[in-house]
Amino acid sequence: MKKNAIYLDYNATTPVAPQVFAAMEPYFKDLFGNPSSASHQWGWTAESAVQKARSQVARLIGAAPHEIYFTSGATEANNWALFGLITKIKAENPNEPIHILSSNAEHSSVLQTLKMAQSLGVEVDFVPVDSTGRIHIDDIKKSLKPHTKLLSFIWVNNEVGTINPISELVELAKENKIYLHTDGTQAVGKIPVNVQNIEVDLLSFSAHKIYGPKGVGVLFIRSKNPKVQINAHIMGGGQERGLRSGTLNVPGIVGMGKAAEIAEEILSEQHKLQEELRSYFCDLLKAEIPNVQINGHPSERVANTLNLFLPQYHPARSLGGLQNLGVSAGSACASGSVSLSHVLKAMGKSDSHIESSIRISMGRETTKEDIQEAVATLKKLMTSKETSVFS
Ligand code: PMP
Repeated sequence: MKKNAIYLDYNATTPVAPQVFAAMEPYFKDLFGNPSSASHQWGWTAESAVQKARSQVARLIGAAPHEIYFTSGATEANNWALFGLITKIKAENPNEPIHILSSNAEHSSVLQTLKMAQSLGVEVDFVPVDSTGRIHIDDIKKSLKPHTKLLSFIWVNNEVGTINPISELVELAKENKIYLHTDGTQAVGKIPVNVQNIEVDLLSFSAHKIYGPKGVGVLFIRSKNPKVQINAHIMGGGQERGLRSGTLNVPGIVGMGKAAEIAEEILSEQHKLQEELRSYFCDLLKAEIPNVQINGHPSERVANTLNLFLPQYHPARSLGGLQNLGVSAGSACASGSVSLSHVLKAMGKSDSHIESSIRISMGRETTKEDIQEAVATLKKLMTSKETSVFS
């Protein structure tokens, strides 16, 4: 990494926390057993490490350990939650029509899965979001059908940080006896997520957004009130209570457990810190680049995320201008493609507005000095000939 480079893309991924790395290390080495090996101590040791991690993760979200299913990440958890429920309903009653409601500002792992479901005959409606990226319960109420079986809405938007009204969705889902799935990837570790207080049925999230390793995620499946049943989506040796086969990624799971434990411990302290950093960032922006605008909700938003519209900035025309800043134009998962952010589009932003928008997401390591440096770089970009000549 370049010296003086500043990473401000924590919504894309976070570094593995040192304590997490230390917890994982033995499971790559001496403690390499397969938790499915029930006949010897290598297997027992690995199995007990997985169970500890399951409890740590469960604690973070107020679940029971047996409601936690390890996956390869939130993408898999989202795919599984949606297809697992659809195939379960279809298997039990092949002729029953299925209608699902979601939004057009979801993560691509939900959008693409639902588009695939549509192509297989499932009815899906994508409810619009408002100009801040938020859904409205009344729009969802209006879109309900007698055969609506599932609501799937992102808890916190990964691009703009807007928080959806998940508690209201829970009420609506309960009233209408509909399942509720939420992609909580950007919510867990940033805001309190407790499935006892906010009774979602299915919740997906990922280790690498909470200072755990990449390639590990979780699907929470509620086991009572109601007992949610979904089909397996990876078949094989019967791991994860027969629902998600494949030898468990023990070091990764141990890392996720430790990351969850730390996230729980420091949640409120981090929240306060991120709020402070954000207001410092906003004050500095206002002073230095007064025409900057923030994409997203003014109050219903997570503290670490700032999606900025920078008039006069055009990424393609200011080659390298951002090179020392690790920020994201749109979603990191879409990197490599030049398509415009579907989230900002769903919020009604014009193409030129989207092209001139960047996402800044702060994390545990972010300092006020980083913010000063970032604002100075952005200011240079806004006033440099390279950009202004063309805009
Ligand atoms: N959902 C959201 C909201 C995300 O931000 C991401 C990661 N960009 C994912 C799902 C996918 O997570 P993973 O990388 O663990 O597959």
